[in-house]
Amino acid sequence: MYRMRTWSVRNARWLKGLYSVVEFLLLRLQPLLRRIGYQRLDKPFLAVEKATKGVLLDSQSCGQCIVGYTGMSCPMNCPKQMRNGPCGGVRADGKCEVDPEMNCVWLLAWEGNKRFKTRD
Ligand code: SF4
Repeated sequence: MYRMRTWSVRNARWLKGLYSVVEFLLLRLQPLLRRIGYQRLDKPFLAVEKATKGVLLDSQSCGQCIVGYTGMSCPMNCPKQMRNGPCGGVRADGKCEVDPEMNCVWLLAWEGNKRFKTRD
């Protein structure tokens, strides 16, 4: 949902903190997860990911997540699926060239990255 996408960018700082905590815990749980078996965990993890990142970030579950570097803006929401920066068509008001109803995902990434570094 687009509204949640922009909310996540506005709240990028603490969401990134939460993201780091979850990453830390998953790394600590590696021995247990390995014993259970990654294949067995695939479906439950995907369900959790869809219920969290899917709702909060409008994540498209590409499997190569970089939202920790793109201000919590999922680049897979770009209609052209640009993964390394904006295309040349960003409108003067920051709207997307293809879908003028939404802000360019890379403009959101820039705003979210600024929030990573500053306190609100
Ligand atoms: S303006 Fe931004 S979101 Fe739209 S197609 Fe170009 S890079 Fe993608």
